[in-house]
Amino acid sequence: MNLLKGIAVSPGIAIGRVFFLPKEDFKISEEEIAPAEISREIEKLHQALKLSKEELSEIKFQEKISDSFLEPQILFLDDSQVMAETVKKIKQERKNAAFIFTEVTKKVINSLSKSENLYLKERITDIKDVVKRVISHLVGHKAPKSLREIDEESIVVAHELSPSETAQLPREKVKGFATEIGGRTSHTAIMARSLEIPAVVGIPEISKLVKSGDLMVVDGNKGIVMVNPKEKELEDYRRRQKEYLEFLKENQELKELPAVTLDEYEVEVAANIELPEEVESVISHGAKGIGLFRTEFLYLTYHSLPNEEEQYKIYKMVAEKIAPEDVIIRTFDLGGDKLGIGQNEYHEINPFLGWRAIRFCLAQPEIFKTQLRAILKASTLGNVKIMLPMISDLTEVKRAKEIIAEVRMDLQRRDIEFDSQCPVGIMIETPAAALCAADLAKEVDFFSIGSNDLTQYVLAVDRANERVAYLYEHLHPAVLRLIKEVIDIGHQHQIWVGLCGEMSAEPLVIPILLGFGIDELSMSPLAVPETKRIIRSFTLEEAREISEKVLSLTLAAEIKEYVGERIQEKAIKIIFEK
Ligand code: PEP
Ligand code: MG
Repeated sequence: MNLLKGIAVSPGIAIGRVFFLPKEDFKISEEEIAPAEISREIEKLHQALKLSKEELSEIKFQEKISDSFLEPQILFLDDSQVMAETVKKIKQERKNAAFIFTEVTKKVINSLSKSENLYLKERITDIKDVVKRVISHLVGHKAPKSLREIDEESIVVAHELSPSETAQLPREKVKGFATEIGGRTSHTAIMARSLEIPAVVGIPEISKLVKSGDLMVVDGNKGIVMVNPKEKELEDYRRRQKEYLEFLKENQELKELPAVTLDEYEVEVAANIELPEEVESVISHGAKGIGLFRTEFLYLTYHSLPNEEEQYKIYKMVAEKIAPEDVIIRTFDLGGDKLGIGQNEYHEINPFLGWRAIRFCLAQPEIFKTQLRAILKASTLGNVKIMLPMISDLTEVKRAKEIIAEVRMDLQRRDIEFDSQCPVGIMIETPAAALCAADLAKEVDFFSIGSNDLTQYVLAVDRANERVAYLYEHLHPAVLRLIKEVIDIGHQHQIWVGLCGEMSAEPLVIPILLGFGIDELSMSPLAVPETKRIIRSFTLEEAREISEKVLSLTLAAEIKEYVGERIQEKAIKIIFEK
């Protein structure tokens, strides 16, 4: 079997010879030490930390990597708790530093791995990466063949690629990569997208199935890799690669063009970002502003929640870069076991239905106010909007607005500038919010439909559970009918309605939402050109006809078939598989 399936995390097609990066395992022995040797072991630890920090700074400098990728590792080295615990145990247990450091960090990794939160789980890679670096210094291990030594065009295959390893990939040589471990929101995946290197992760057993020198195709559009393809398959892929490059060239032309239908009806096509560095990608892919800034991802960068000044600087930088377009800053969508605070002592059986997002922020007003102050202070250009996640009750909106008003008054009292008209909107991502949209619309300036969550709550299907993934369907009539209602209600109350879940970039969904009268779509920056292409291929009239027909259909499969045919009639080139 030469075709392996994984998760597509960075689009594009790469063809090359495999550079296999073996898994690195150190043997760490447990050694008793004499009291006189304690200070020497502690000194060795400090020295290893210092060297590791210097190396990371060097990689950051040489590779001009943005702070967010290596900063979590550098911050981990500064984590006084882990270091104090290691020193304490070296003294108490009188064992070698390498052994104790391994034990202490194992515990941290263990507790993170129990978290049901994807973001936290994906931080494990960062921690393992930096721990490996420190231990290699403690045991005097020589670094293995470095990725920087890759001297011919290659596809890197590994069990797992850490963010710092990804940072070291020589871009002119590494054409793509494929790993066993990883998810769409891992740092490595985010970095692959920002470096525009085709990548597929989550391929079971790939490190056992390939060896250095094998010929490989990485299809980052479809999430597959092909090992030692036959001449005919290779030819086919070379053709597809050429088509894809042409497609990218054509996309460049779309960058400057508005997202208008054939009869000039304009829809705002904005982009979602997780990290501030992604603003460049939003601009380069021709999006009209940022429709969703998932600020909880800052937690990845700062090890804990960033303080007011740190947040202010980030929001301000994003608002300035994206101006004159807008940025919608969503308040932290964290909660329960998702946050370091109280994380260990608080475990939720059902975190998706638990203490998250607005529920968490209203219960932690100081965290909420700090973020709101930072957002408002960054709003002076007049292009910032605030968005509240996971609303399920009118009282939550009212309470959040009261807190926003308090923060505004406080800023006014202190003569601190901010946009007094800064709009406040909410995400519609619970069935309760959708069904009570008329009441909520009276309180806010806009709605943005969070279809990732709305779909999971409407269909009662966990969005992250592979076993029920076949039931997770954006084109389910229940989801589509509810979305249509929310849009209509928003319009009846003179507020605009957007959609910022992953479905906004699904080719089949776009004409339907267009026909429903959606005002804004926000998606991954990479999907923007294709979305514009689809919008520009229909008239509003055609889209309305499609959406009306769709509302009369009873099965997702029928809806797919029908819209698929309507798109085919237009002969639109679609490359991204959603
Ligand atoms: C959504 O639920 O659709 C959404 C955009 O929010 P997130 O994916 O961050 O939960
Ligand atoms: Mg959501």
